[in-house]
Amino acid sequence: MRSILLLILPASILAQQPVQQSRVKPGWQWTMDSVNTVVNAVRAGRSLQPSSWPGGARVAVLLSFDADNETISLRYGEPTVGHLSQMQYGARVGLDRVLRLLDRHAIPATFFIPSVSLAITPSMADRIRKSGRHEFAVHGWIHEMNMTLPDSVERALVVRAVDELTRMTGTRPTGYRAPSWNFSPNTLSILRDLGFRYESSLMADDSPYEILQDGKPTGIVELPVEWILDDAPLFNPQGQSYMNPRDVARVWIDEFDKALEEGTMFVLTMHPHVIGHRSRMVALEQLIDHIKAKGGNRVWWATHAAASEYVRAQSKLGEPRSR
Ligand SMILES: [Zn+2]
Repeated sequence: MRSILLLILPASILAQQPVQQSRVKPGWQWTMDSVNTVVNAVRAGRSLQPSSWPGGARVAVLLSFDADNETISLRYGEPTVGHLSQMQYGARVGLDRVLRLLDRHAIPATFFIPSVSLAITPSMADRIRKSGRHEFAVHGWIHEMNMTLPDSVERALVVRAVDELTRMTGTRPTGYRAPSWNFSPNTLSILRDLGFRYESSLMADDSPYEILQDGKPTGIVELPVEWILDDAPLFNPQGQSYMNPRDVARVWIDEFDKALEEGTMFVLTMHPHVIGHRSRMVALEQLIDHIKAKGGNRVWWATHAAASEYVRAQSKLGEPRSR
C-alpha cells in the first residue's frame, strides 16, 4: 500500500524528497484492483450537510487560523534568521491583530497550532483563550511532513502534539488538521486510534462528510478545506499565484455568496503570519463585513468543533444505524 501511494505523490511532494524514478509506475500500467485500492484508502463518504444549522441558519462560517509561525522554518532542519523573523511576526504581531478583529465582531475561530509553535511562544495560549470563544486544535508537532514519515514516527509525534497542546492550553483537542494538508497511508488510522472527532485537511466537498477508510465508515467528520480558501498561496509575494489582498477578498466573498445560496458551509484557513499583515487585514475585514451585511441571521459563526458536533448529532454519526 505504501509503495503504491508513493508512486502517485504530487509533484510538490516529490520535490521535497528524493524518489527513485525506477519505482514509478504510471497509472496506465496499473490494474483496476490497484486503482480501486488507492482511491478507496481514504475517500469521502456520506454527506453530513444538515438541512439547517443552529438557530435555523442557512450557512455555517468556520474561520480557522493555523498558527504555524517558526515551525515552517524549523521543520526541514535548515532555518535561517531571516525566515525565522518573518515567521515570528505571526505570534508577535499578526495574532493580536486577528484576535482584536474577532473580538470586535464577537465571532469565534479555531486555532490549529503545532505544539512547538506554542512552546516557542506560550503566551499565545492565554491570548487566544481570553475571549472564551475560540478552539484549540492539533496541527502536528513541528509542522512535520507527516506523509513522508513511517507509522511509528508519525504516531509518536501526533501523540506528543496532543499531550503538549492539552497541557499548554488546558483543554484536550478533538480536531486535527494535517500539516500541509496531506495524509500518509497511516494518518487516518492514527486519528481513529487517538479518538479524534473531526479532521480538516481534505478537499472532496464544500460540505461536511464522513471519511471512509477502505470503503468503510470511520465515524470521523471531515470539514473540508481548499487552497482557494487559504491565505498562504494567494498572499505569497514570492509565489507564482500572488494576488493583491482586495482581489483575494473578492474570491472569498464569491465563495461565501455561493455557500449562502446553496445553504452549505464556508471554511476559511488563514495564518497569523500571513493574514496578520496590515493590507491583508483590510481584506479579511471586508469579508467579515460582507458576511454580516449579506448573511445576517442566516449565518452561524462557529468553531470547527461546534460544527463537527452539530453535524454528528444531526446525522447520528457513530450511533447504530436504524433499519
Ligand atoms: Zn500549517
